[in-house]
Amino acid sequence: MRKHLITGNWKMYKTPKQAKELAQQLKTDLADVKDVDIAICPPFTALPVVAEAIKGSNIELGAQNMHYETKGAFTGEISPEFLLELGCKYVILGHSERRQYFNETDELINKKLMTALKMNISPIFCIGEKLSERESGKTFDIIKSQLNNGLAGIKEGIDKIIIAYEPIWAIGTGKTATPKQAAEVHEYIRDWLKKNCSLKVAEEKRILYGGSVKPDNIDELMAEKELDGALVGGASLEALSFIRLVKFQKV
Ligand code: PEP
Repeated sequence: MRKHLITGNWKMYKTPKQAKELAQQLKTDLADVKDVDIAICPPFTALPVVAEAIKGSNIELGAQNMHYETKGAFTGEISPEFLLELGCKYVILGHSERRQYFNETDELINKKLMTALKMNISPIFCIGEKLSERESGKTFDIIKSQLNNGLAGIKEGIDKIIIAYEPIWAIGTGKTATPKQAAEVHEYIRDWLKKNCSLKVAEEKRILYGGSVKPDNIDELMAEKELDGALVGGASLEALSFIRLVKFQKV
């Protein structure tokens, strides 16, 4: 039985002070949640205060990116060692905004995935198609190539990777994939894992959905047995909304 994971991606929002306040409220109001795993991924500058604020709670910490080297002359970059020391359990890798605005390729993401696994940080590996690709019937081809390239050469530790299916046309747009649209891609991903890894990896893999998940659509999305949780941007920035997402109604 796969446990749901609801993850907030705070993107480039929240000063350290604002982040601390939000984290403190979440710690209090989510303390009773046991059946869902919870993670929040603040900006790097807020990681220390958020780590402190959620200490001893059921909320885990994640980062939004990292470098594939652990140290070196890489001005402006963040090492996985820094994240580990702050208590990060997760790191988001391959988010479509990193692919789109910072030219991150499957090959680069593959290197980062390998390093994260070596460092024992669970990567949340994001994949998904553009609207034009969906409309021209290429969704599964794109997903297949992102899986082939992103996971190339990764055997050891593959069980630690969480996959997030995030159709680019649904991120921050208010357009959500229907539960059926999301479920068929999740099934495709699971099938790929079955063929390329093992039945066990496929059956145990948590596959999250991301793309305009909101309080008013979370229940129907999570009712799909293929969806093992959500990666949430906009709706994770406000306490009441994120709390409602974590406490989705099981139907
Ligand atoms: C995201 O940032 O991964 C995301 C899915 O954003 P939003 O929920 O705002 O669409």
